[in-house]
Amino acid sequence: MKILVVNAGSSSLKYQLINMDTREVIAKGLCERIGIEGSLLKYKPAGKDAVEVKKNMKDHTDAIQMVLDILADKEVGVLGSMNEIDAVGHRIVHGGEKFSKSVLIDDDMIKVIEELTPLAPLHNPANLMGVRACKAIMPDTPMVAVFDTAFHQTMPYEAFLYGLPYEAYKELMIRRYGFHGTSHSYVSKRAAAMLGMPAEKTKIITCHLGNGSSITAVDGGKSVDTSMGFTPLEGVPMGTRCGCMDPAIVTYLMEKLNMDAKQVDTYMNKKSGVFGISGVSSDFRDLDDAAKEGNERAKFALDVFAYNVKKYIGAYAAVMNGVDAIVFTAGIGENDRNMREKILTGLDYLGVDVDFEYNRTAPRGQEVTISKANSRVKVFVIPTDEEMVIASDTANIVFGK
Ligand code: AMP
Repeated sequence: MKILVVNAGSSSLKYQLINMDTREVIAKGLCERIGIEGSLLKYKPAGKDAVEVKKNMKDHTDAIQMVLDILADKEVGVLGSMNEIDAVGHRIVHGGEKFSKSVLIDDDMIKVIEELTPLAPLHNPANLMGVRACKAIMPDTPMVAVFDTAFHQTMPYEAFLYGLPYEAYKELMIRRYGFHGTSHSYVSKRAAAMLGMPAEKTKIITCHLGNGSSITAVDGGKSVDTSMGFTPLEGVPMGTRCGCMDPAIVTYLMEKLNMDAKQVDTYMNKKSGVFGISGVSSDFRDLDDAAKEGNERAKFALDVFAYNVKKYIGAYAAVMNGVDAIVFTAGIGENDRNMREKILTGLDYLGVDVDFEYNRTAPRGQEVTISKANSRVKVFVIPTDEEMVIASDTANIVFGK
């Protein structure tokens, strides 16, 4: 069974073709600059050279058509025809309170996703462009929506309600939703398997640390709290996002710097985080280099990030009354050994005993245990695989597999 996974942004579209029988990625790639001068298709068939095609893509339908054409291309393709694609799985960022799991896409579902646009004004419409493009070109191929928020719909009200008037929740849908759900779901399941315990019996803290970062408390296989909130801006300071701060800062900034709502939004989303603190970069590799060269602000940025992640680990251990495993995943979690060491230093009270030597040398790109054998709390590094979760959910919903 072959599943096409589509992650559509406003001017980009990532795709992967996955063989679910072998769980192998057959081909993957990216369409860039859709609707903009200089559109580009990147395509990488497994085990073969990458290909780039420069051709105008006026919209997402053009982009999907190009993806399907190259997948079935006589020379570089991996399919006899696009009919070999059994189903398409779409990443949809916001499912609000409507979707607590993935769903088969039909016209009614599209309408419901559309109604959630106010909650994700940039993402949901872009995601739907991918859905509509596929529907136009492959109308008979079943499609599934997989939501970033769905995994967190199990949070209890203590965790999802803000201290605002209740009407803000009921009338304006303001509450904690949480994001990166497919990643937290995937790595927490893998961690339960690595613990050799049924997921229902485990307490796991998953740290998805990348350009956007979120930390989740997974109790008995269910998300019970997560650091991102109403939007992906809440939580730890990220690449360019500010994370948690005193909300009074928003009005203060508006007054002091004469900013309007849009400008404050840009300030907090694009100019803040470790980029804003350091003034160097949002990339942790650059920050590491700068800190090593004595850049004080780069050191501040790294320390603030580590401190905040550690704070969430402590909070979530308290929320769950214990923790069996802490998981690191995504770009920073999987690769940045220095950051893992910073976060994990001084967690002995919790029963975390890390093999710091192994943390430095453990191979990248595979699941590893970096805690010592006798550590009460295990620490795992688990490469995330959001596309595989989308493909699995799609196969499950369409074919019951
Ligand atoms: P993601 O959003 O999961 O793709 O993560 C991207 C981020 O991971 C980059 O911006 C870097 O900050 C970080 N990253 C990736 N590779 C490394 C590395 N080898 N060392 C430190 N940070 C890394």
